[in-house]
Amino acid sequence: MTDTATQPVADTAATRTDDTAYDVPADATAHTCSYCGRPFARESWLALHRGLAHPNELDDEEIEAFRAAHDEEEESLSTFRLQALGALVLIYFGFLMVYALV
Ligand SMILES: [Zn+2]
Repeated sequence: MTDTATQPVADTAATRTDDTAYDVPADATAHTCSYCGRPFARESWLALHRGLAHPNELDDEEIEAFRAAHDEEEESLSTFRLQALGALVLIYFGFLMVYALV
């Protein structure tokens, strides 16, 4: 009988799926966080990450970039909410009219 407790479980580097495993294409432009090394496709996403993940380490310029990116994100979220609400209203009354006529 073999002792299974002394055998290695698995190659953890090959099956690594934690937050530090990133697959950035070679021809892609990545904006890398200077605090943790995480890559982002857009500058505004990096600014949002810095403000949310490293709020106590930012300088004034990075705080200003975070606020601008946050305001821009809030504005696009409220635009999306209005569009989604409009689509739901159209679908609801569309089905209501179909139900009334058929
Ligand atoms: Zn970071």
